[in-house]
Amino acid sequence: MAELKEKRILVVGGASGIGLAIVERFLASRNSVAIMDINEEALLRFSTLDYWQDRVIAMKGDVRESADINDILTRMKKNWGGIDGLIYSAGIFPDRRIVEMSEEDWDNVLNINLKGAFLVCQAVARQMVEQKEGGHIVTISSGSYQSARVGSGHYCASKAGLVMLTKVLALELADHSIFVNSIAPGLVHSEKLGGEYIDTFSSRIPLGRPAQPEEIASIIELIMSPSNTYLTGQIIPVDGGLSSGHFGLP
Ligand code: NAD
Repeated sequence: MAELKEKRILVVGGASGIGLAIVERFLASRNSVAIMDINEEALLRFSTLDYWQDRVIAMKGDVRESADINDILTRMKKNWGGIDGLIYSAGIFPDRRIVEMSEEDWDNVLNINLKGAFLVCQAVARQMVEQKEGGHIVTISSGSYQSARVGSGHYCASKAGLVMLTKVLALELADHSIFVNSIAPGLVHSEKLGGEYIDTFSSRIPLGRPAQPEEIASIIELIMSPSNTYLTGQIIPVDGGLSSGHFGLP
């Protein structure tokens, strides 16, 4: 049974996949959850949840826009008085080899996966410091922060950067009792990643299958629970044992 109760949580990139599972998990545990995502259509699912309305803020926003980030934080402050936790799950993962990559391809991935994380984490950290109530920040990185894959030069670089952003933030915010960690999933069966790709790679995972998004969400709830009083600055692989093997062999 989760211990986290009635916290004010912001999930950035929460309209689908892992982020959506996190939103559902935290709502089920009776927290208030704000969702910012660029996908307006996917956000519509939250407007039908009548009985959750006072505990949900769903806003179209782009992590590359400081005005959007300030907007969602202002709404959380107005409705709920502030913020206790952030999960940064926004990310894109297009495939392109470096020799074929345009400057725009590179910038797109770095701007959403890394610069967006900086902008969001900075704004949230400033507010948490001002509140003086501590808090939790969790970024969703990837096993790709340390394992290279053909076609994902921009993605791997963005996730390696995100991991260092997470660690530095943890050091800088420790004095304020703000815990900052990153979850590094391996393969997750989400809306954008399924079918053949999953079938091909499942055999390399010691547990023999990809994670369900809910399995990532449950670990995050654990990290953000009041029972976590000492874990900060860590990159936690939730990958079915994938990163423990040698050459991807279970
Ligand atoms: P997803 O595409 O389902 O979710 C990502 C969400 O981010 C989407 O709802 C999307 O609309 C949103 N988003 C994209 N650009 C945005 C922007 N500019 N502003 C605001 N929101 C934006 O993918 P997912 O599989 O749930 O991935 C979530 C995170 O987990 C990503 O950071 C991804 O890199 C990471 N991850 C995923 C896997 C996997 O196997 N699925 C593995 C390792 C890491």
